[in-house]
Amino acid sequence: MPEAGRGVGRLVIFGVGLIGGSLALALRQAGYCGEVVGCSRSAGHLQRAIDLGVIDRYVLDPASAVRDADMVLLAVPMGAMRGVLVQIRPALPPTAILTDAGSTKASIVREVGDIMGPDFTRFVPGHPIAGREQSGVEAAVAELYQGRRVILTPQPHTDPEALAAVTAMWKVTGALVEGMPVELHDQVLAATSHLPHVLAFALVDTLLGMPQREDILRYAAGGFRDFTRIASSDPVMWRDICLYNDRAILDMIRALQNNLSHFSALIRNHDAEGLQQLMQQAKQTRDNYVARFEPGQHS
Ligand code: NAD
Repeated sequence: MPEAGRGVGRLVIFGVGLIGGSLALALRQAGYCGEVVGCSRSAGHLQRAIDLGVIDRYVLDPASAVRDADMVLLAVPMGAMRGVLVQIRPALPPTAILTDAGSTKASIVREVGDIMGPDFTRFVPGHPIAGREQSGVEAAVAELYQGRRVILTPQPHTDPEALAAVTAMWKVTGALVEGMPVELHDQVLAATSHLPHVLAFALVDTLLGMPQREDILRYAAGGFRDFTRIASSDPVMWRDICLYNDRAILDMIRALQNNLSHFSALIRNHDAEGLQQLMQQAKQTRDNYVARFEPGQHS
């Protein structure tokens, strides 16, 4: 098992896309790994990752890929995690640490428990709170995690050495590593990331269904562009996030529906004071958020 702070001998990454590729680039630049091995579905894609200097080599067969691994990172879409786990289970060395970068945590904790067994202690669930709407290895950059949070959601039975090794690995990228209970992670991310993505997709979809859509898009300005930027995100990844964090996302949609009903009533009743009060409070909250967490930004 790799010791915290000592580097990783062989890191095997499933899914060498934006997230897995960016981690690989940061670790290779820091000289933290003896070797970074990629595993994915297509040789062409993995060869591109070698050409871009993201990985050292690739192996197409998942079981062969993990046979001599010290650390294994799952960075495939949520819906592909189970398939990879089933294939690597028989070959995973007893000392190797397993971790992931998936956007929802209760589902992967459940899947690892189902497939690796309840006594498997070397799984450290993780989620880097960093990303962009581009995907694929071409979008990977070594700086993606600098100053960003990485949330780890260890279980009571997680091996402390495995947790320390995964923490140390993410710190090398410049990330701030924090721990959080699984359920809280899924609720918080449903509110701050998953609901906004649902809204961006839903807004564009609503406009698409309107007869005046050509005019709407022609005259759309900065507000539309800002609000809908994240609707350019990968549909497969977001389909999976909706399906794998369904309960928490549905709770958030219900809360928003209640707020929209209230908003509608304020407009219907021409309640100028009520509208202004609601908007003033929301503006204040967002301004405070930007000042506190993104002091360099003004919008
Ligand atoms: P991506 O599309 O850039 O990369 C995913 C990679 O997985 C691709 O290389 C793809 O070929 C590969 N892949 C897909 N199915 C596979 C399978 N069955 N077996 C092996 N490889 C397979 O996506 P990404 O943005 O890097 O996201 C990867 C993971 O990270 C997802 O679980 C996502 O929820 C999570 N995540 C994404 C972001 C983000 O903003 N993009 C942020 C944090 C976490």
